[in-house]
Amino acid sequence: MTYQVDDKGYYGEFGGAFIPEMLHSNIENLKNQYIKLIYEEGFQKEFNDLLKDYVGRPTPLYLAKRLSGLYGGKIYLKREDLNHTGAHKINNTIGQILLAQRLGKKRIIAETGAGQHGVATATVCALMGLECIVYMGKVDIARQAPNVARMRMLGAEVRPALSGSQTLKDATNEAIRDWINNPEDTHYIIGSVVGPHPYPDMVARFQSVISEEMKWQLLEKENRESPDYIVACVGGGSNAAGAYYHYLDDESVTLVAVEAAGKGIHTGESAATSVLGSRGIIHGSRTLLMQTEDGQIVEPYSISAGLDYPGIGPQHAHLIASGRAKVYSATDKEALVSAMELSKIEGIIPALETSHALAILGQMKIKDHEIVIVNLSGRGDKDLATYIDYLDNPEGEHKTDHGHGK
Ligand SMILES: *Cc1c(COP(=O)(O)O)cnc(C)c1O
Repeated sequence: MTYQVDDKGYYGEFGGAFIPEMLHSNIENLKNQYIKLIYEEGFQKEFNDLLKDYVGRPTPLYLAKRLSGLYGGKIYLKREDLNHTGAHKINNTIGQILLAQRLGKKRIIAETGAGQHGVATATVCALMGLECIVYMGKVDIARQAPNVARMRMLGAEVRPALSGSQTLKDATNEAIRDWINNPEDTHYIIGSVVGPHPYPDMVARFQSVISEEMKWQLLEKENRESPDYIVACVGGGSNAAGAYYHYLDDESVTLVAVEAAGKGIHTGESAATSVLGSRGIIHGSRTLLMQTEDGQIVEPYSISAGLDYPGIGPQHAHLIASGRAKVYSATDKEALVSAMELSKIEGIIPALETSHALAILGQMKIKDHEIVIVNLSGRGDKDLATYIDYLDNPEGEHKTDHGHGK
């Protein structure tokens, strides 16, 4: 059993590249070159130097003693929240901008829902002096003013998508249209392990620095490379893919994926894709997604913007279908309670997405001798409005006025 992509771009039955004919040459070109380019010595040096000096890596592997006291075992937090821009997304955008330069591209496009991937993309374009256009639904632009302001400060042009529901799906359509019209000079930066092959594999490789560091850090602290569990939240799945990467073939490590249950898995307001989803094609790959019987995508719901996505990366679909990864889910309420708890007992305010991963620790029944690593994907500054709302009224309904997905 292999959990890596095969030479046709599949993970078991999931993956592939289901794209309009007019994108064929862009994707072929990327597919034929990415491995060669990213493992070239000069690329690796530049990538690693930027991760160190610009992003601030390696991120600490921190033994959370008081959290361990609550849930048992030894719980380590992999501190992706300490990265420049506050989450893991920058690992991928740094990698892709270096690749774009080597492909001779002068112009970067991306799409964003909540603005987080847009900010990570605008950041690396500013760093490299490349033109940056971020497509964003008009509705999302209105409700994500701080991230829109960040992108503009960073020199990006935020272009409104005016069709359909004016949210992420429409922004994606606009980005694809742009790429079709500008195949020569433009690179499209996708923000998670989703999209047509080779994106899921490429993004996982850029994020794999997370588990590469975990191995030597745990060896230093515990005299072993492998924990018993790795726990990560899954929106599209990029922070989880990076945290799992170097442990995929080590079956002594249980991989735990945590999805957003929203108001409850069966309330109709949820983003628990692997439970509610079925096989289909979304954003150019065959995977699990939330859809109606006639194949219309069901709008997902989660209090956290980054988990509010109707699909899941094809590698995760395969890990889950094959039983390699175990899936849990956490509701909005459970995530909020965990965010408050980690803040109070460890002095770390986590992102709402990450709080879903923390929220299942109590369900895991961790044994005293076991070691758990939770991938702390991001910091909570961006979620302060939601946290304030919760502090003021813990029993009420909470603000979820964000874009769907990244
Ligand atoms: C975007 C985001 C996520 C979800 O994206 P993945 O691709 O599933 O990792 C999780 N946590 C944070 C902090 C994010 O910003």
